[in-house]
Amino acid sequence: MQIKKNVSIKNLNTFCVDVKTKYFVQVETVEKLKKVLRNYKDEKIFILGGGSNTLFVNDWDGLMLKIDIKGKKVKKKEDENYVYVECNSGELWDDFVHWTVENNYAGIENMVMIPGTVGGAVAQNIAAYGQNITDVLFEIVVWNIKNEKERILKPENCNFAYRSSNFKHEWKNKYIITKVIFKLKKESGDLELSYHERAGRYGSLLEELQTFAKEPYSLKDVLRAVKNQREKRLPSVDMCGTCGSFFQNPVVSLKKFKELQRKIPDLQSYPVEGLNYEKGEKQEEFVKIPAGRLLDELGWKGSWDGNVGVSEKHALCVVTNKKAKGKDVLKFTRKMKKSVKESYGVELVEEVNIVL
Ligand SMILES: Cc1cc2nc3c(=O)[nH]c(=O)nc-3n(C[C@H](O)[C@H](O)[C@H](O)COP(=O)(O)OP(=O)(O)OC[C@H]3O[C@@H](n4cnc5c(N)ncnc54)[C@H](O)[C@@H]3O)c2cc1C
Repeated sequence: MQIKKNVSIKNLNTFCVDVKTKYFVQVETVEKLKKVLRNYKDEKIFILGGGSNTLFVNDWDGLMLKIDIKGKKVKKKEDENYVYVECNSGELWDDFVHWTVENNYAGIENMVMIPGTVGGAVAQNIAAYGQNITDVLFEIVVWNIKNEKERILKPENCNFAYRSSNFKHEWKNKYIITKVIFKLKKESGDLELSYHERAGRYGSLLEELQTFAKEPYSLKDVLRAVKNQREKRLPSVDMCGTCGSFFQNPVVSLKKFKELQRKIPDLQSYPVEGLNYEKGEKQEEFVKIPAGRLLDELGWKGSWDGNVGVSEKHALCVVTNKKAKGKDVLKFTRKMKKSVKESYGVELVEEVNIVL
């Protein structure tokens, strides 16, 4: 078993931050995972997937486990309408999406081109273009580092909320997702095409589809339409350091939304779902607003300070020239937060995991 010491992880995080970890090991099997954990019991653990939603500010003074457990298969358990697919957590999410479309299994095609691993996708509770990973999760198999036992979780055990789950909070670096069982549709009759961005910019998903395909649209058509849209709208990890959206879209009260609309008349809002409310508060009294729009209004899009900037394509995407340190990104994003707070009284919350 190869445990490396004092390793740079610059190529293992999409911000390309050059930090070091005291110990590093890539795990390809659950057996190896168990063995490493037994041998390094006293070390502080970090679970790394594709590093596409993590900003490292300091070196990691412990053991970093790069989860690289690959493999996927259709489980025997099938019913008339659904297929159950078992996928190991180190598979690349984007490869998995392509594989499902090739096999004509529906449910995750709109989430193509999201970097990272299957394990990371569950931990982050990813979503895109109207689809959400929680809609297709059946079971999650985890390894509990402390009691050295496997556990099979149902999605309802994991406290999934907007870009959040127990894996990001109380189970962080304690439960390792090793395998995920997805419940996907066998027929693609029910495509999710309702997504549209602010009018007049890049158009809706449906409009994109209409440029190259005819009804009835196939899963492959939707995949291509989403790819086309994402290429126009988002920075690429090949061209710059980035974790995609740096902040979550804030949830505000309807009263606050009306106040903001006085400053930005065409500000969009979206219904909020699955959030925890204080006693007496009603879901209908809140809306989600696009953080990128607030930042755009304040002139952040395309602005730079040293090695860190904001994408020309999307004001919510913080980018670097791959030379920035974690602390440069942190300093820059704190300024972004401060300007939104001062101008609109809205507190932005990071979507990216910050490792101090
Ligand atoms: C260009 C770009 C576009 C993006 N677009 C989207 C988008 O459209 N929608 C969206 O939701 N996100 C998007 N993201 C964010 C990111 O890709 C996702 O959150 C992704 O799922 C993170 O996966 P990862 O494996 O890279 O996670 P990492 O960054 O490696 O880890 C994230 C967190 O999960 C934990 N973790 C990772 N693997 C495991 C495991 N096996 N078991 C337990 N915990 C684990 C880590 O410890 C960490 O806390 C985008 C990012 C980029 C760079």
